[in-house]
Amino acid sequence: MPNYCVCAGCRNSSLSGHRVHSFPDRTKNSDCFNAWLSFVQKRRRDFTAASVTRNAVVCSAHFRKEDYVPGDVMALRMGCRTQNRVRLIPVAVPSIHAADPGSAAGGSNRKTPGPSQPPPVLHCGSQRSLRPFHLSTGSVTLLLYH
Ligand SMILES: [Zn+2]
Repeated sequence: MPNYCVCAGCRNSSLSGHRVHSFPDRTKNSDCFNAWLSFVQKRRRDFTAASVTRNAVVCSAHFRKEDYVPGDVMALRMGCRTQNRVRLIPVAVPSIHAADPGSAAGGSNRKTPGPSQPPPVLHCGSQRSLRPFHLSTGSVTLLLYH
């Protein structure tokens, strides 16, 4: 069974190629465990300590790069280590929530169309071209007096 990220609004899993992390040991590392739990609970009221099963994981989207063992990240970049072998530092706690659709952050940066430009006025010697076009004075005279 794939391990899906338990964070609200996040469907990342080991199957989708994301790095996922199991919860810290709740007996050996209770402080850290509770910090992870309260992080998830900020967005998921229904999430409790009992919800943390062996399949409960938090994906890398919720961790800062400082939360990882620097050597492991380096090794990953160099291709010496696979995604799943990059470890968190022992005190790492998830801190980044998935993008909140209701958040106004970045809203002001939306690209808006500029003020509408008036169409360029064409000046093509219109005065001159408006002058009556005489192909032949003779034919005009002919038409008028025929
Ligand atoms: Zn996630």
